[in-house]
Amino acid sequence: MQNIPEIEDLIKLISKLPGLGPKSAKRIILKMINNRQELLKPLAHNLGEVFKNVERCKICGMLKSSNNPCNNCEDKNRKFSKICVVENISDQWAIESSSIFQGYFHILGGTLSSNSNNNNREDLLINSLIERINNDDIDEVILATSATIEGQTTAFYIQDSLKNTKVKISKLAQGLPVGGEIENLDDGTLISAFKNRKDLNI
Ligand SMILES: [Zn+2]
Repeated sequence: MQNIPEIEDLIKLISKLPGLGPKSAKRIILKMINNRQELLKPLAHNLGEVFKNVERCKICGMLKSSNNPCNNCEDKNRKFSKICVVENISDQWAIESSSIFQGYFHILGGTLSSNSNNNNREDLLINSLIERINNDDIDEVILATSATIEGQTTAFYIQDSLKNTKVKISKLAQGLPVGGEIENLDDGTLISAFKNRKDLNI
């Protein structure tokens, strides 16, 4: 498949996806080309739709369709007093599936140092987090960032940003393996990290 510029470009792009290298990228592309009507065409269409219509909620950071309300923010029947701050949507999914936490989520969309532009505070939706704390009667913010340098730097930055609110701030317990990313933790470790979370206000 070499020497076809369109395909070479596609191989480079698909190789950047998690878990895929050039070899698997080629197999994927070949499968799509051999199934033009059933795979290639609808995939091209769907990718275009996702690009056009899927965006981050400006309040909580969850992905949403621009045609629909955000799933995290919409359900007014649920009333919680805690917000759990995570780096990525996959972290929210991991915490939800462990059933340890009942409350709202706030998705930063990354960490301070992984966002290389100058709009970090805006990107992490910190202003929105402060508004949510004030408007939703929140009594505790749980920082559930990864046990990486970036994750911990970000947690400290958020703690500092919230110092003028009256909210209790806690952080997941140190039992997290160093370098541990929330989404990769098993339920047992996650549950114990939540139960033993550390109060940062004292
Ligand atoms: Zn939302």
